[in-house]
Amino acid sequence: MPPVTRKAKKEFLKEEEFEIFRRNASMLIEKMVELSCQTPKDSTVLVDEALHSIFFLGGINNPPCPPEVIITDMEILNSLKESYPKPFELYSIQLPKRHPFSCVLDMIVQVTGREKENGIKEKLKELIRQLKQDARSKILYSFTICVSYIDIPDPVKYYGVSMSTTGRTAGKIMVGASCLSAWDDDVAGAVMTYNPDKSKKKYFDGTIILPDSVRCESFKLDSGEKMNPCRSCGNLFGLQTDENTDEWPYGNCAEAESVSELLKSEHQVKEQVRARHRSDENRQKARNAVLKQLKSELENTDFKWDNNFYTPQRITY
Ligand SMILES: [Zn+2]
Repeated sequence: MPPVTRKAKKEFLKEEEFEIFRRNASMLIEKMVELSCQTPKDSTVLVDEALHSIFFLGGINNPPCPPEVIITDMEILNSLKESYPKPFELYSIQLPKRHPFSCVLDMIVQVTGREKENGIKEKLKELIRQLKQDARSKILYSFTICVSYIDIPDPVKYYGVSMSTTGRTAGKIMVGASCLSAWDDDVAGAVMTYNPDKSKKKYFDGTIILPDSVRCESFKLDSGEKMNPCRSCGNLFGLQTDENTDEWPYGNCAEAESVSELLKSEHQVKEQVRARHRSDENRQKARNAVLKQLKSELENTDFKWDNNFYTPQRITY
């Protein structure tokens, strides 16, 4: 009998999926550069972050899809390398904090204006229409947007999109990385309460209950249809949901990012959320478990981590 190995089987991209990844990666990069010229403030830091995140996902693809394969026009490739050298240098050793579509969302919010929820949704809808040329091509693609805000007149709105990774390995890596580096600590704590197999940790419960004053609504990006929170989001954030909805992998939904943005800015809500949960002693243990899980997922790829998360850079002129 052959020896049983602990390593999960590597996920292979079919030839057609590889081509869709390449095409969508190149389209997102082009879009980010184009939009960056339209923002009122300097947004080159978002282009830099998106480049690194896309190159990272290309690098852990099997077979890998390096920057030179994504960007076939030599002139564009060289000019990107000159303006944004760090993503090219570091995509194979540093982890992104966020998945690519988060950066795209931030850019679209900057271009459109945070208060214009419908305008933001319309722009995203148009973009995903271009990315989804046929039903099989949902790669580098977010399915949903979540909008969170305090229920008052003219509230500030906080947006999030669902994970734009493809395959279980990449999804788990990005959720782990965002828990450890990007998300508000209470959102990270809620997500870390669950193991990747959706079981609950016995020694740590960081789930939160959002106060009644907070609205947290999700919509399908392609049709605009409003969606009920899934069971995972019900468990994580105390959102009302019914038994029959899906239980997506914890941290995968748009809610995580949107609630995280809200908690980073709305200090009163943060205080209320904080006051409700006290079981903090084992938070570090839970973080260590997430880190260990993340490293073990990385073993299924050719990525060699230098233990740093990538810090996006601004172009210096
Ligand atoms: Zn959900």
